[in-house]
Amino acid sequence: MRAVTYVKNDTVEIHEKPVPDIHPDEILLQVRGAGLCHSDITIINFGDDNPLIGSTLGHEVAGTVAKIGDDVQGWSEGDAALVSLILSCGQCRECLAGRDNNCEVAYPRDALAPLSPGIGTPGGMADFIAVKARHLDPLGDLDPVAAAPLADAALTPMHAINAVRDRLTGDATVVVLGLGGLGHMGLQILLATTGCRVIGLDTDEQKLRFAEEHGAIAIPSDRDAAQKILDLTNGIGADVVFDFVGVQPTVTTAVSVVRGGGAIRFVGLGGGVFEYVAGNSALPWGVSIERAYGGTRSEMRQVIALAQAGKIGVEVQRYSLDDAVQAFDDLHHGRIQGRAVLVP
Ligand SMILES: [Zn+2]
Ligand SMILES: [Zn+2]
Repeated sequence: MRAVTYVKNDTVEIHEKPVPDIHPDEILLQVRGAGLCHSDITIINFGDDNPLIGSTLGHEVAGTVAKIGDDVQGWSEGDAALVSLILSCGQCRECLAGRDNNCEVAYPRDALAPLSPGIGTPGGMADFIAVKARHLDPLGDLDPVAAAPLADAALTPMHAINAVRDRLTGDATVVVLGLGGLGHMGLQILLATTGCRVIGLDTDEQKLRFAEEHGAIAIPSDRDAAQKILDLTNGIGADVVFDFVGVQPTVTTAVSVVRGGGAIRFVGLGGGVFEYVAGNSALPWGVSIERAYGGTRSEMRQVIALAQAGKIGVEVQRYSLDDAVQAFDDLHHGRIQGRAVLVP
């Protein structure tokens, strides 16, 4: 089968690999869609001694059941399914507490990130993937191509949003920094599940139009953006800021527009920095910050349900699996609206 393989720093190639065998508790999924995430670009740029070199990428994976392990029940051939982002154990303290995105088995302290398809185990940018049945959720009638990015691009914002839901009241103002893969889903989840005033920022005209069409206030991400947000909030600032980019300008904006007692959720991995000085910080008193990653299994079900109800939808840019190298290049150079999905 074809498999998009990370061969050396900043380089992916399509390699021929054997179709995986399955264990009795696994399902062989014929991949129908594999989303391409900015973190895939981050991963392949960690240098030439990255332990993931040689592996098949792809952590947003949807497909149809092709083969069922002997011990698996409840699935039939042809069923559409979404693969869990985080391959949690289901048994540890964190899993049992419903914080399975922090699973102690999938995410040992020294790990780069929790175990996921394409991050420590073969990913879904391939014709097939073997998955434990317990790491699949049914998609019903959803198109697996459009549903694949739900596994991260919708799940991760859903988790970040759920973690501050007490602040997302009907009179709150929320800022979404970056309207790309995760941001355009975060924006829709906020609009679908809260009564907040939502302000979306991006440098791209088309992405700003998307925000406006969905009922958000769109502000170009430039040097005047922070002042515009303060003006819209009578100088007080935003209740919650989601930074889906994490580059220096967005981190600076997040810190400069969050209100006292507000919250920042840093999701994007862009390398931006802010200084925290205990006692004398630019950060207002009472601000809560979380370095958000992934989401729980329960949140996976929530985003599938919202998609099935037509309340959220991924803007998909389709690429044939054979054009994976082009897709990586387009993402790297900001030429993707919404999410690129590889279709085997
Ligand atoms: Zn990702
Ligand atoms: Zn666990």
